[in-house]
Amino acid sequence: MQALRAFADVNAVVGGYLRDLAFAQSSQPKMFGYKRAAAAILSLDMPLTDLLGRDGSLPRIPGIGPGSTRVIREILETGASPMVDQAIERSDRRADIERRRQLRRHFLSRAEVRRILADARFDGPTVGQYRGDLQMHSEWSDGAPTVQAIAEACLERGYQYAAVTDHSYGLKVAGGMSMAEAASQRLAIDDVNARHGGRFRLLQGIEANIDAAGQIDLSADEAATFDIVLAAPHSRLRRNEDQTDRMLAALQHPAVRILAHPRGRIYGSRAGVMANCDAVFEAAAQRGVAIEIDGDPARQDLDYTLGRQALAFGCVFALDSDAHTTPQLSYAETALAHARLGGIPADRIVNCWPLARLLAWLSDPSSASRP
Ligand SMILES: [Zn+2]
Repeated sequence: MQALRAFADVNAVVGGYLRDLAFAQSSQPKMFGYKRAAAAILSLDMPLTDLLGRDGSLPRIPGIGPGSTRVIREILETGASPMVDQAIERSDRRADIERRRQLRRHFLSRAEVRRILADARFDGPTVGQYRGDLQMHSEWSDGAPTVQAIAEACLERGYQYAAVTDHSYGLKVAGGMSMAEAASQRLAIDDVNARHGGRFRLLQGIEANIDAAGQIDLSADEAATFDIVLAAPHSRLRRNEDQTDRMLAALQHPAVRILAHPRGRIYGSRAGVMANCDAVFEAAAQRGVAIEIDGDPARQDLDYTLGRQALAFGCVFALDSDAHTTPQLSYAETALAHARLGGIPADRIVNCWPLARLLAWLSDPSSASRP
């Protein structure tokens, strides 16, 4: 499959140069301008090479000013950008820019995601095999939509089920839900399910927070009130020390079914948790805990290289959007693209299972290893 990635993801290359240029600026507004330009290119549906007219003209792209246009032209013509190189030379930020470059590895642009989904040569999961999304946020924590709006948007995408997974009370910065709020949310979800009958099932999930010691912020009784428990790290994500023990402790919690955004990395900004991946994957496979591929474009966590490594240990996977608005449900496609690049078969992806198999796994995760 490596050969299929032989040519560059041109939008990712351009987005990377624009990020370099942003961090070479001494003025804050200019920095934000180039960061916005990078985000605009990374989220384009089409590669820039396909947008180029016969006469070499570029269409107007919202968020792209004259400086960014010059960078794009240089890269399309030569594969590099002298303008960006000179800006880095003039700045005193070379070391920071080099560090950030290392934190952009194995990220896909939106155009590349679409190319991979449309390329039949990959044998991973197809969009049509994806039955439901198991990480998203509603108005009950830091998301925007109501649970009703989420159900309707999921139905429009052809899903058979989904899980709303708001933050638990331990994560105050993300508006974590108290257990009393969770009880009210349960009633709203019951109402949604009553309205959609057997056509669609909305699960009440929770994104529990993994603390410094690897414990999660829910008692066993509290965890048992949810249909699905995700656990994710949200702190200590910029440290160089090894945190294998923390991640292994979280995996041993009997309620946890999905290790969400396992590293906590952010595009061009932080590497996330440093841990022995082999040990984490082995423990997850043993317990039947799914390793998540978080499709938020800024996260892409895990990416396809680590996905392939986890597959070799016998892990199952959850491919989720981590949406905070209903349009962001499309982020699940980023996760699907990584799974296809990693050669992860649909049978190892819990979101591709029929609802009955998913529910059986939720009640007994060791069933993940049975065909
Ligand atoms: Zn999270």
